[in-house]
Amino acid sequence: MATIFSKIIAGEIPCFKVAEDDRFFAFLDINPLVKGHTLVVPRQEVDYIFDLSDKDLAAMQVFAKMVAAAIKKAFPCKKVGEAVIGLEVPHAHIHLIPIQKESDMLFSNPKLKFSDEEFRAIAEAIHQNWLNAL
Ligand code: 5GP
Repeated sequence: MATIFSKIIAGEIPCFKVAEDDRFFAFLDINPLVKGHTLVVPRQEVDYIFDLSDKDLAAMQVFAKMVAAAIKKAFPCKKVGEAVIGLEVPHAHIHLIPIQKESDMLFSNPKLKFSDEEFRAIAEAIHQNWLNAL
């Protein structure tokens, strides 16, 4: 059965997309720790990120690097932090989180709430910077 992220990639479940190419897809986390919290996923359905081939894992990091640059331009921050957990959704994904301080990355923090309109504007800001860098 397809994972929820495969359904998002297929357009069967809506998301706020920020970037994509032929192998990877990036969209806003629906329960963001901070504004701009983004997930990067491979189109290939693999649960554990370290089960990806060396080549695919490296390519995913390069894609994440480009998305992180677009996030940083849209939402100036000290750094874009990267985290991999994957205990909730069995489809490998990288969290990209614009941070001002270490505690911004704490997954135990309360999650932010945004309206669809706000999510759309956040995704669009990142997407524009993504397009500008291509
Ligand atoms: P993890 O598997 O890394 O522990 O957590 C999965 C992440 O995916 C969570 O941060 C959660 O908010 C996010 N997530 C789960 N389901 C959806 C969904 O349907 N849409 C979006 N945009 N994010 C989701």
